[in-house]
Amino acid sequence: MDFRTRCARGAGVVDDVGRPLAPPIVTASTFAFSSQEDVETYYTSGRGWLYSRYGNPTVRAAERLLADLEGAEEAALFSSGMAAISTTVLALVRSGERVAAQRELYGGTVGLLRDVLPSLGIETTWLGLDEITSLAPDRLAGCRLLWVESPTNPALRILDLAAAARTARAAGVLAVVDGTFATPALQQPLAMGCDLVVHSGTKYLGGHGDLTAGAVAGRRDLVDRIAASRRALGGIADPFAAFLLQRGMRTLAVRMEAHEQGASAVARALQGHPKVRRVHWPGLCDHPDHALARRQMAGFGGMVSFEVEGGAVEAERVHDRLRLFAKAASLGGVESLVSIPARVSHRGLDPAELERSGVSPGMLRLSVGLESPKDLVADLLEALG
Ligand code: PLP
Repeated sequence: MDFRTRCARGAGVVDDVGRPLAPPIVTASTFAFSSQEDVETYYTSGRGWLYSRYGNPTVRAAERLLADLEGAEEAALFSSGMAAISTTVLALVRSGERVAAQRELYGGTVGLLRDVLPSLGIETTWLGLDEITSLAPDRLAGCRLLWVESPTNPALRILDLAAAARTARAAGVLAVVDGTFATPALQQPLAMGCDLVVHSGTKYLGGHGDLTAGAVAGRRDLVDRIAASRRALGGIADPFAAFLLQRGMRTLAVRMEAHEQGASAVARALQGHPKVRRVHWPGLCDHPDHALARRQMAGFGGMVSFEVEGGAVEAERVHDRLRLFAKAASLGGVESLVSIPARVSHRGLDPAELERSGVSPGMLRLSVGLESPKDLVADLLEALG
């Protein structure tokens, strides 16, 4: 064959890859078949690979690991947490049906439910965290999903997930939990009766702030429907991100322990400081949901929020004086981050919505990383000055 053809054909893959202990990154967008009969077998059996928007071996490796960690029959990976959330809603809710949603949700999810879905005929019934567990089933009339989040962002309230799942079941509604802050290391929503758990994999699952991904895990029939919509909507994870995600998940257990150690030291140092009005961390005995968190979770997590005396002005001063905490959105990575929720993650909410979500102007949110807790505490005390 001509040089030009040999270049274009490439060398193909090495047949015998041995037994690599880390999954190979398969970047191919398309996969070859040996005959049309093979193509037909792919369609009839649902096994094998045709096109990476439909499914990909590297993506599959991460899905398998997440399903295992969640105790789920099946998991599906997405290009972001919001792709997982939007595809899940669009796959399961039809025009004319409603979503029931906890008010204290990540701002992006609020935006989807409030600003995007009404134009498709999907309206939301908003519920306070404290009313969800004792809800009369008729409050969920016409709803297809009950969408909840625990711990909440940024107020770190805890919802009784077993009770929420019972409420949903009594009304014939599917219970979906955003478990991003807890991860399966600290919380197992499916074992508590919830139907699906979603994640921003960008956060603790990836764990290094170097990828954007999302996931949903749960019953096979539901995840299969969501994966079918993923094909049409196009939001599957990229193989590089999937590779990094599974690599991150392999250290999830030990990372979550270290995040919690740091958060505990930080929360206890802030509590009682004369310039701090209130500390939100479910591991503190005076947190309103401490007993529930102790019962429902295997740990209290690495997120800490606190409110300073002096409101927005003082919050900005402390924020700007921090040196070890990077001033950045997102969470769950190796390095510690700080943000002012009212002006970053919850910027799109009006004052009434902010208050309902437990976000005050003087609140700072910390994602406690893997640095020495002693250094983090010193930085905070210095910034509070
Ligand atoms: N859910 C929660 C609780 C989040 O904090 C975020 C992002 O901050 C998301 C979902 C959305 O995830 P992503 O940014 O990966 O789309």
